[in-house]
Amino acid sequence: MRRSIPLLIPVYIGAAFVAVNATAFPTSPVAAAADVTNVARPVRARWERSPTRPLRVFIEPAPKATGWRPALTHAVWAGFARWSTRDIPIRFVRVTNASAADVVVEWVDALPGKSIGKTWREDVGGVINAARVTLALHDHRGRALSDEMQRGATLHEIGHLLGLEHTGRRDSIMYPQVWVTDVSATDLWALRTLYRDRPHGIGD
Ligand SMILES: [Zn+2]
Repeated sequence: MRRSIPLLIPVYIGAAFVAVNATAFPTSPVAAAADVTNVARPVRARWERSPTRPLRVFIEPAPKATGWRPALTHAVWAGFARWSTRDIPIRFVRVTNASAADVVVEWVDALPGKSIGKTWREDVGGVINAARVTLALHDHRGRALSDEMQRGATLHEIGHLLGLEHTGRRDSIMYPQVWVTDVSATDLWALRTLYRDRPHGIGD
């Protein structure tokens, strides 16, 4: 198989509090902003792992960051559980240091521009080899992100690290702005579709 140069692909989700005490969807987003992406690629990347070789996830505590609290690590781990489905061959296990991890999740005080989350993925050909998710604790105006916003950003970035791209549907967690803060049945369907067998056996 032809070898490809690893691609580092930044994907962002932006934040600007439009309506924290939002009226019901779909009249108000929880947050909205520009989102930056994306290099066109011939193959949608995914992890090639069996359930017996789970993705090792390191959630890095950030006790020195303003506003960070241990509950955030539990919330992120719950985000991985939310994306877990028996219908794809991907499982997750937590590890206690970055060197043993396939996926690292970290926090920073804030991200450039209006972003509140970022995923760097190392893709080789159509195979994801590693990922790093950076989550912001504050928006671009310095305001602390609510638990709900953190949840929306976390689920969105986990979607990216699993290989999902943006959608144009506001009721999807993969919309480039935070309008919803949960994974939908359609999002899980998109994940199952991505992890269905491929005709050319990429990554085998
Ligand atoms: Zn995104």
